[in-house]
Amino acid sequence: GLSWEGKHVTVAGLGVSGVPAAKVLRERGALVTVVNDGDDERARAQAAELEALGVTVRLGDGATLPQGTELIVTAPGWKPDKPLFAAAAEAGVPVWGDVELAWRLRGPDAAPWLAVTGTNGKTTTVQMLASILKAAGLRTAAVGNIGVSLLDAVLGEEQYSDLDVLAVELSSYQLHWAPSLRAHSAAVLNLAPDHLDWHGSMEAYAKDKGRIYEGNRVACVYNVADKATEDLVREADVEEGCRAVGFTLGTPGPSQLGVVDGILVDRAFVENRQKNAQELAEVSDVNPPAPHNIANALAAAALARAFGVPAAAVRDGLRAFTPDAHRIAHVADVDGVAYVDDSKATNTHAAEASLAAYESIVWIGGGLAKGATFDELVAKSAQRLRGAVLIGADRALIREALARHAPEVPVVDLDRTDTGAMLQAVQEARRLAAPGDTVLLAPACASMDMFTNYNQRGDAFAKAVRELGT
Ligand code: ADP
Repeated sequence: GLSWEGKHVTVAGLGVSGVPAAKVLRERGALVTVVNDGDDERARAQAAELEALGVTVRLGDGATLPQGTELIVTAPGWKPDKPLFAAAAEAGVPVWGDVELAWRLRGPDAAPWLAVTGTNGKTTTVQMLASILKAAGLRTAAVGNIGVSLLDAVLGEEQYSDLDVLAVELSSYQLHWAPSLRAHSAAVLNLAPDHLDWHGSMEAYAKDKGRIYEGNRVACVYNVADKATEDLVREADVEEGCRAVGFTLGTPGPSQLGVVDGILVDRAFVENRQKNAQELAEVSDVNPPAPHNIANALAAAALARAFGVPAAAVRDGLRAFTPDAHRIAHVADVDGVAYVDDSKATNTHAAEASLAAYESIVWIGGGLAKGATFDELVAKSAQRLRGAVLIGADRALIREALARHAPEVPVVDLDRTDTGAMLQAVQEARRLAAPGDTVLLAPACASMDMFTNYNQRGDAFAKAVRELGT
């Protein structure tokens, strides 16, 4: 292992990754300085806690590289164009993220990582994967960007000790700062423009996502319908014998998983040499059986199969899985109209997937656009729209896209952002809907203009729907 005794390490950023990183490094004898842009009450409390352990903390100055720094461990969200990193490059100081640190600190018998990234579907896929692995009798946990620090998982916090395998969700930021990570197998679910302000360009974003395939041992799992993911596999430097495995909603080719007559079928990892395909599960075993979610299930199945999990465990694991809140959650039926909460659809690519899952929709959308354009989303969904109710700061962008691509669709433009706005949006949607329709909250936007986060937005929607029913 590495010797940390007396090593000068600078931790960039307090918070969920910085505080545990500083503690672990200090425990191992490193001389740790934390630099942090902010200097608020929370930062001061965290600083006091770390100073008591012998860590130096500089609040209100995240730009200056401390004298003698030999390594920077950064919070994943710190943008690569920050002056601190320019200074580090100048001085030849390496920069690691929290994932890289966890990877380097893992023990010799550490559980292998099955890793997932992509613009959308990461959390769902990692949870499905963990469910499948558990159904196979393996000890596992869903960790990483999903909200469980990899440092905790790798350093054997009680519930994570003695695991057989980790199901790891990785963001593009985490991958950017994880140069030596080598997964057992990994999947990139899809690639659509997101976070481009951080990465600088689509190329840089794709390159960071593609890092997840570097050094894979068994399988690089890609999306047949998203050629950019396959290109990343081709560019990756992998271990000898590592295979490219595709997933598709259509009939699978060799080395692919796909769907045949309502059955999820594996043509990549077939145990029985007499057969060229292995049936895994039925489409109806996937919850909810929306097309994008079947794709997530196939990706999870591919990673599990790469790890040697039998077909029956894929089926059992998918049946046991229930999605997290606000991801295509069916709230209620009122007067023959279904109300569905996909508040987690915070970008256009996600909203496009959920709008594709229903036939006749009254769409509630809008919020903070984060620089997105809506033409493609609206053009692709226009056929299925009965009506639209627009909320939030950037709703004019969606209204204009609707006028261009779906001029016949009735639109209600809600010019209010107070707490009652969601109730009115749901009431307007009810007026537009006919029996058999779905009222779908799939905002295609971030929520922070009106809500604390997507959870609160989804809760407001569900509450409004319940008030309709009474
Ligand atoms: P992430 O962790 O990548 O944000 P989630 O699993 O939390 O992904 O899903 C977020 C939203 O993205 C869902 O509510 C749904 O609208 C959409 N989504 C999920 N899976 C996919 C997919 N495979 N392709 C496109 N959109 C998806």
